[in-house]
Amino acid sequence: MTNTKLVTLKTPGGDRAAGRPGDGPRAAADRGADGPRPLGGRVYIETYGCQMNINDTELMEGLLVDEGFVSVDAPERADVILVNTCAIREHAERRVRGRIGELQRHRKRRPELVLGVTGCMAQRLGPRLIEEAAGVDLVAGPDAYRGLPELIGSIRASAIERGQTLLALDSEENYEGVASVRREGVSAWITVQRGCDHRCTFCIVPYVRGPEKNRTPQAILAEARRAVEDGFTEVVLLGQTVNSYESGDWDFATLLRAVGRVDGIRRVRFTSPHPNDVTPQLLEVMAGEPTVCRQLHLPVQSGSDRILKRMVRRYTSEAFREKVEVARREVPGIALSTDVIVGFPGETEADYEATLGLMRDVRFDDAYLYKYSMREGTPATRFPAGDFIADEVGSERLERLIGEHRAIQHEINESEVGSEREVLIERSARSPGDVLGRTEQNKVVAFPGDPCRIGTYAEVRLTGTTGATFMGQPC
Ligand code: SF4
Repeated sequence: MTNTKLVTLKTPGGDRAAGRPGDGPRAAADRGADGPRPLGGRVYIETYGCQMNINDTELMEGLLVDEGFVSVDAPERADVILVNTCAIREHAERRVRGRIGELQRHRKRRPELVLGVTGCMAQRLGPRLIEEAAGVDLVAGPDAYRGLPELIGSIRASAIERGQTLLALDSEENYEGVASVRREGVSAWITVQRGCDHRCTFCIVPYVRGPEKNRTPQAILAEARRAVEDGFTEVVLLGQTVNSYESGDWDFATLLRAVGRVDGIRRVRFTSPHPNDVTPQLLEVMAGEPTVCRQLHLPVQSGSDRILKRMVRRYTSEAFREKVEVARREVPGIALSTDVIVGFPGETEADYEATLGLMRDVRFDDAYLYKYSMREGTPATRFPAGDFIADEVGSERLERLIGEHRAIQHEINESEVGSEREVLIERSARSPGDVLGRTEQNKVVAFPGDPCRIGTYAEVRLTGTTGATFMGQPC
């Protein structure tokens, strides 16, 4: 599972037809939305969830732009509003329901407007979403996006009724040949794999995204070369268990090396690997290829073997610790991050203490920490009712774990103050006159700089830390 820090992404920075950072997206928009009425209509997509979803929004934009649609940056200006959703936690779905309710006011004002829900929540709830949420005109799951332009066109032309569903999972659909419309940003996210063959008992992903499907290395390399042509120097390879990738003779280590050697690429990252597929070959590539960032997200989920077994994670706490040890030995300077779920059904105080112990021993650079969220249709829902942890107990455990992690992170980052790092500048910081960027180890640094340098690299001395973020000065 990709780490699922909840993000809401609204199409930023003006409208675009097929704009990319290298070719002036705003100019493209000027030719589109503000010119003659676009053929398909003006589409606004709002994205919730993980990076995979953001990447899917880029795919949808690519498909729609190809069919004569134009992206706009506000629902007020749209003929079509799509909400690309996440189903990983109940909280994420609640937010989306609230947002669908809010968006109804646009539909009331302009009854011709088409409002659709896409992504994992759409796949999970399907027609229920249409029945429950008056005013949803279509739902489309993650394998059905190719059908969107035609479906939207037919609804807009009143050729079919509203309330349509596109939900077939397709074991062949990898969206080959679709050029994503990349958002502003300095990293090109490239999906190399869709779906998942695991069945972690808490996780809805295999049910809404289907089994693992890997793209061909040729298609991935071509996309990486296109990203370079479009001005990107950092690429991030994306998959639910990205390092289980295989295609013909290619495994993930081979793919990572090849992408890292594409001319013009300066940094390659990947997310999210499964601990079991961290192989010696992968670590060798991470240690030996200068473009491959020494940063590894390694979701542990729990430090208790009993809970890991209940989660069907397929490793023990000891095996995980060994992976960490080998990774740190083979890739000096590597930064490690993780995901943890507390309050999983059956988690005793002793199990929770085992998680705390693992966190203290491993000392992750970063961690995404969550309270268990029951997902209808997942195996974990079938544990006996008495196994479910009271909400307040889960919250208290989460709070303690966050405190523990923050203290560790602060100590780690304090020890790096004074060192120099190469930073890829991503955006303006909140503090006036500062920009924000990331080091090779994926650590965030704010330092004085001109926003015109976004997308370029700077040598920065780390001068202090708030705990998670660094302050710096250009060297
Ligand atoms: S089933 Fe397990 S491995 Fe697959 S996406 Fe979910 S958490 Fe990750």
